[in-house]
Amino acid sequence: MKAKDILRDMKPYKPGKGIEEVKKEYGLERIVKLASNENPFGFSPKVKQELPELIANLEIYPDGYAAAVRSKVAEFINVNDNQLIFGNGSDEVVQIICRTFLEPGANTIMAAPTFPQYRHNALIEGAEVREVPLVDGHHDLEEMLRQIDDQTRVLWICTPNNPTGVHIEREKLKWVMDTCPDHVLVVLDEAYYEYMETDDYFDSLGALDNYPNLVVLRTFSKAYGLAGLRIGYGVGHPDVIRMLEPSREPFNTTTVSQAAAILALDDQQFLQMSLEENKKNKNALMNFCDENGLSYYDSQANFLLIHLPFSGDEMFQHLLAKGFIVRSGEALGLPNTIRLTIGRSEDMAVIQEEMKQKLASGVK
Ligand SMILES: *Cc1c(COP(=O)(O)O)cnc(C)c1O
Repeated sequence: MKAKDILRDMKPYKPGKGIEEVKKEYGLERIVKLASNENPFGFSPKVKQELPELIANLEIYPDGYAAAVRSKVAEFINVNDNQLIFGNGSDEVVQIICRTFLEPGANTIMAAPTFPQYRHNALIEGAEVREVPLVDGHHDLEEMLRQIDDQTRVLWICTPNNPTGVHIEREKLKWVMDTCPDHVLVVLDEAYYEYMETDDYFDSLGALDNYPNLVVLRTFSKAYGLAGLRIGYGVGHPDVIRMLEPSREPFNTTTVSQAAAILALDDQQFLQMSLEENKKNKNALMNFCDENGLSYYDSQANFLLIHLPFSGDEMFQHLLAKGFIVRSGEALGLPNTIRLTIGRSEDMAVIQEEMKQKLASGVK
């Protein structure tokens, strides 16, 4: 048997440690997972309430067009139905974009480090990946645009960026859109859009009419807390959506995920509560870092990338033994950092105390 050459050196996605795994290994009763930017408050109670109804007709294929959730989202974000494409998480929309636009001989441009699925899927399609290092956690937009040539098909921009949490200001993105040639599709990944606190951000959806080469990605996995159900979407010009549709599996989102997304959108109260708590607990964490001489990137998301005086793996191991799963920056391409999802205030108080102890004792 022979797989694609490129796959020989590629590894499957390595998820953070699982909760049950850590419980067993360390003999702990409660584990707090702050590694994947999931919502620490769960998801809308309205979704939970309706769940028994949602699983009533599982023998029937879902609506492949996702008509109900499509209308709902279209109305909510004020676009037309034909400007949307749904995916099994926005992860799958990334894959669909790569399947549609990338092939051997083509190239694609992204920051490094950023969300790894752009690179992963681009490589599988055989495209050349051009990675432009972040500068102080920020996309180097000038350099990214400089790397564009006739064979460039897709430019990936993640704002706020995972794993740094840094967002891109309005004028900078407007400059990118005005400068980027029409033959390049610009994908703006806004997985953490809801968490942004600043007013100085690019109104991506409002800009769609001006830029037919723009696609915006959003998801129900983060602020809406539905990561386990897998549903996200892309928004763009109807012509771009039409180009993407043949690469989409006919039944890629489920009956349950479609219905849950509608209910989640209807419960803006849960969303607002999540955002307020995140803001409060993020501010407390930033204060903690200031008091303890730790620098961090200015995050507009639900996580903080914190610089440490030693390896992120050291802090990761220390916190793991205390029941906290975080992300070490070593694996993310940012040595001597950890990426910490903002959790509940009571858990954040404990983890900050644990971090303080580790900082005091240092590396043995
Ligand atoms: C979490 C995340 C996604 C993927 O979310 P889905 O669960 O697949 O919708 C996409 N982009 C970024 C930057 C993320 O952090």
